[in-house]
This record gives sequence, structure tokens and C-alpha cells, in this order.
Amino acid sequence: MKRVLSGIRATGRLHLGNYLGAVKGMLELQDPPAGGQEYETFYMVADVHTITTPYNIEELRKNRREVIIDYLAAGLDPKKSIIFQQSEVPEHLELAFYFSSVITIARMQHLPTFKEKVTQHPDNATMALLNYPVLMASDILIYKAGLVPVGIDQEPHLEVARVIANNMNSKFGTDFPEPIRFATKGEYVPSLTGEGKMSKTVEGSYINLTDDLETIKSKVAKLPTDSGKGVMPEGKPERGSAIGTVLSFVELFLGKSKAEQYKKMYTGEGIRYGDLKQELSNSIYEELKPLQEKRKELENNPEYVDKVIKEGAEKARMAAQETLKEVREKMGLS
Ligand code: AMP
Repeated sequence: MKRVLSGIRATGRLHLGNYLGAVKGMLELQDPPAGGQEYETFYMVADVHTITTPYNIEELRKNRREVIIDYLAAGLDPKKSIIFQQSEVPEHLELAFYFSSVITIARMQHLPTFKEKVTQHPDNATMALLNYPVLMASDILIYKAGLVPVGIDQEPHLEVARVIANNMNSKFGTDFPEPIRFATKGEYVPSLTGEGKMSKTVEGSYINLTDDLETIKSKVAKLPTDSGKGVMPEGKPERGSAIGTVLSFVELFLGKSKAEQYKKMYTGEGIRYGDLKQELSNSIYEELKPLQEKRKELENNPEYVDKVIKEGAEKARMAAQETLKEVREKMGLS
């Protein structure tokens, strides 16, 4: 059966960007329509990736469990998916080291994500940060996963994974697939500030999956607006213009036809942003409410969460060890 891998770093509570860009794709592949292609799905919390930028030890310890709870609350199901913590499968780290022998430093230094992080944390341009995409390639390829539900920002990392897979196959005769991204409708969720994408590290940019209606309303109220009337900007309007950002949220939560309707109003009689924001906030909350209810149940059942984490690690390790054994043999290490 074809395999899928995805993961989210343990840097905080999940936000709408993680949910729409990654978790929704994970769910789609976990629960294919009847008669559709079925997949073996591996979903992890990428706690080891978290240490590639400055972090707080207690926060990490807490967040890695919180991400698992968010996954379960969103509908990931341990009966259908292998749900685990990356650090519990140390095989990923061994394979990443082998992979680092088939990719150059120059290639890694040129990645836009690396450059961005170095600008954000100039005193922490560590080897771990440089190796981030190599570890990500290992996360994917250790399960020979061909499909990776992640946001569009991860595309350069997937390209690295494909180069590594190719180099390993041609040098050592392995049979790694060239993994491709599984895109969702929300592959790029803009920031609430109107600049760049929604991100945990940018204050004021995100709505958490655990936010209540009042919090959502006050965050949505801050979405930048304009006069409500004018010509629609060309190109990718969600990246930069006020109306574009607002409409991309409308499309994601109220649907395409509603977005078209508002677009017409913008170029015609004008939009009343107050009403729009009210409608939008309600619909975001409606989507999150069932997750929040499920989360409460899970918070009251820590034994169940412990069991999911333990069993997930066991299953993932078995699959990972198989690949690692093969790689060690092919590379002359056993
Ligand atoms: P990270 O929090 O960087 O570990 O990202 C976890 C997952 O969420 C990755 O698949 C990202 O591509 C996805 N993601 C994060 N932010 C966004 C966003 N604003 N829009 C769409 N996907 C996102």
C-alpha cells in the first residue's frame, strides 16, 4: 500500500495554517472516499525538528503532547493512522546522517527557509538548522512515503528529499520514491496581519484551534481592511492586499461562491467589512467547535493519549527499522 508521512513541529498550539495546510490533507488521506486509493498513513509530531531553533525545554515537553492531542481532536485516528512522536523513533536520526553524505552544504545553504531562519536567529545558525531538510527527508523516506500533506512553504524541502532519494538510489541501489506534496485548498493561509503567512512565530498572525468565539472575533476584527470598494488586485491577491487576504479567508470558511459574491460587491456597491467579519468569525468558530469539544474529552483521558503515543512509536519503529537495515547493508555498514 502507498504510504504517506506528515508532521508538525512542537512549537506551540496548532493554528488555522497548520490545520488547513497540513492536518486537513492528513485527514483526507487517512479517510479516502469509498472505492478511492487507500494509504498507510504515518503522522508524527516533529519534536526533534523543534530544537533546530531556540526553544524552551518545558514548553517542548508540553507541546509535543499537545500536538498529538490536537491531531486526535481534529480526527486523526490511531486505528487508521500511525500517530507518533519523532524522537521516539531515533532511526530517523541515523538515516538522516547517512543522507547527509549525499547532499552538499552549498545546496542546503541556498534554501530560502534556511536563509530566513538565519535572519530571524542570527546567533543560532547551527548545524541542526542546516540539517533540518535532511532530517525531513529521512522522516519521509524512512517509511518510503510518496505523498506528503504539507503547506506550500515546504516545497523546497520536498525538492531536497527528492534529490536525496535519487542520489541514494543511484549510488547505493536503494528504491526510495520521489515524494511529492499533497496540496490542500488551504496550502497557503495568510497572516491576520495581512503580511506573509500565518505563523506561530509571528504574534498577531494566527488563530489557534483552541480559540473561543470572542477571541476569534477580536482577532478577525484586526484583519486590515480598505475602503471596501475598488478594483480587484491582479496576481495572487491573498499575498499583500487587504481585500485579497480577507477574501481568501472567506473562500476557506464560507466557500467559493460566497467569495465571488463579496468580490462582486467590492467592484460594485461596496463591502461592509463589519458584517463580513462577523459572518467569517462565526463560521471559523463553527468549524473549530467540534474539535474543541473532542479536545476536552481527550484532556480528561490522559491514559488514552499515553496509549496512542506508546503504540504509535512501536509501529513506526518497526517500519523504520526495516528501511534502516536495508540502507546499512547497501552502504556497506553491515
Ligand atoms: P510548522 O509549524 O512549520 O512545523 O508547519 C507545520 C505544517 O503546517 C507544515 O505542513 C506547514 O506547511 C503547514 N503550515 C504552517 N503554516 C501554514 C500556513 N500559513 N498556511 C498553510 N500551511 C501552513
